[in-house]
Amino acid sequence: MTSKRSMTCQALLNNAVRRIASETPRLDAELLLAHVSGLSRSSFRAFPEREVDAQPAAEFESLVAQRALGMPVAYLLGHQEFWSLPLTVSSSTLIPRPDTECLVEQALELLLPDTARVVDLGTGTGAIALALASERPSWVISACDLLDDAVALAQLNARQLRLPVNVYQSSWFAGLPSASFDLIVSNPPYVASDDHHLKEGDVRFEPSSALVSGADGLDDIRRIVDEAPAWLSAEGWLLLEHGFDQAKAVRELFVDRGFAMVESRQDYGGNDRMTLGQWPRKKGALHAE
Ligand code: GLN
Repeated sequence: MTSKRSMTCQALLNNAVRRIASETPRLDAELLLAHVSGLSRSSFRAFPEREVDAQPAAEFESLVAQRALGMPVAYLLGHQEFWSLPLTVSSSTLIPRPDTECLVEQALELLLPDTARVVDLGTGTGAIALALASERPSWVISACDLLDDAVALAQLNARQLRLPVNVYQSSWFAGLPSASFDLIVSNPPYVASDDHHLKEGDVRFEPSSALVSGADGLDDIRRIVDEAPAWLSAEGWLLLEHGFDQAKAVRELFVDRGFAMVESRQDYGGNDRMTLGQWPRKKGALHAE
């Protein structure tokens, strides 16, 4: 039986690795042990025989049990890094993905005014808005989310990181204070409701409201593309993340709605995972009347 006798890092980790059925069991176990023990991951290699006290060892056991059931590591740690920013995460929002950093890169490549007005729709943890705020202090950045918990979380992250992002509770554009944006950016839900990968891995524990969007996954994207022009300044940009097989359909939505310069861009895996378009200045607007 377990006694007050402490166990070594190596014994705890080996035991955990056998129980965790993820693609990265050792990494997961090391992250969890580092979290409860305050020891660094590199120390587990350098000093595998170091003993862990009973209290952190018990906490580790509890986290490993949850990870063995599939709970994402980020939810167990309570944080996830995005764009080198340490973000607090909770099960009320999506865990920020590395590929979404490509969306941030794309936004930073656009030629926008120095004091561009930008909004991140469905911000979740605030990841996209906060990454942009960290890179472009002169931009005026807003973010919104439908869920109160997500709004509170994004506000917490903004405070912790001391980044100026105004977060609103809003169903897409409906609750935004009026403004004309130079950039509207979003990683909306875009997974088809019957997609089998919803039953696999970490996504099983993420809120479906942040993932699923109707039969073809495009319900929210259709709505955003339809409504965005009313919220864009002339020559403002709309930039959306979407699924690897949705680029053509999303480009068609942009073009049909009247966007110009419509193009898709790739994620780190080489898939077309983002589409952007510019709302054109009205023909003759400069010379009207
Ligand atoms: N990329 C996510 C996934 O595949 C989906 C994110 C989203 O719907 N916005 O799990």
